[in-house]
Amino acid sequence: MGTDSALRDWINNEPMEVRTASRASKPAVDQEVCNVGPVIMLGAPGAGKGTQAKLISARYGIPQISTGDLLRDNVMRGTALGQEARKFMDRGELVPDNLIYGMLSDRLKLADCNKGFILEGFPRNLAQAELLYHSLHNGFFGADCKVPPIVISIAVDYNSLLQRLTGRRSCPSCGRIYNIYTQPPKTAGLCDLDGANLMMRRDDTEGVISDRLRAYESMTVPLKAYYGERGRLVNVDGNQPLEQVTAATMQAIGKNGNSV
Ligand SMILES: [Zn+2]
Repeated sequence: MGTDSALRDWINNEPMEVRTASRASKPAVDQEVCNVGPVIMLGAPGAGKGTQAKLISARYGIPQISTGDLLRDNVMRGTALGQEARKFMDRGELVPDNLIYGMLSDRLKLADCNKGFILEGFPRNLAQAELLYHSLHNGFFGADCKVPPIVISIAVDYNSLLQRLTGRRSCPSCGRIYNIYTQPPKTAGLCDLDGANLMMRRDDTEGVISDRLRAYESMTVPLKAYYGERGRLVNVDGNQPLEQVTAATMQAIGKNGNSV
């Protein structure tokens, strides 16, 4: 089957009816949406995608999968893919896509992914997006789940991101994280709990951060276009207060999933 017809199928396979039930109290795991499907999180460093991913995971009972964790896990367990990846890491080279993808496909075959899963750090480029698309289309995870992926893109203004990232300070003694702009310590520069001098991470300087943000931006533009053209992209305004960001995220996922 050619790519075009497969894409058409996917687009024609749009979900369906969405029932919004109003309930006085929500269960811890949302039973209303049984098949959440794949959720792909996009957002610059500091945009809060990790926070949202944790909330989605708790609410829908689906795992949060980051390629960084997968890589560490495979290397630690010494899997064939992990050993292969290690050779690249030892040489200070990037681990090639096919190895990451192999680890990801092994992970997605586990039963806890049947209802859906949340991806962070994948896909990073169009080639990976295509790989993911074909695997999902071939029913390679959870045979019952026919929900196409939903991509949640959390956008935060550049200056706010800079502030969030450059304002970060941590306590070397207890590990507590502060932000001099949004969550300052009671006494400037000192930990509330133990009075230790707060530290700034070396890679939290403005120059390094703006490079990271630019790199992120150029990476995501084609991905957003790819998923946007397929009607799978939901833009969430990450400048809003946390509860509103969460509400918008959950609404998008609830609409995407198969209601029962
Ligand atoms: Zn401390």
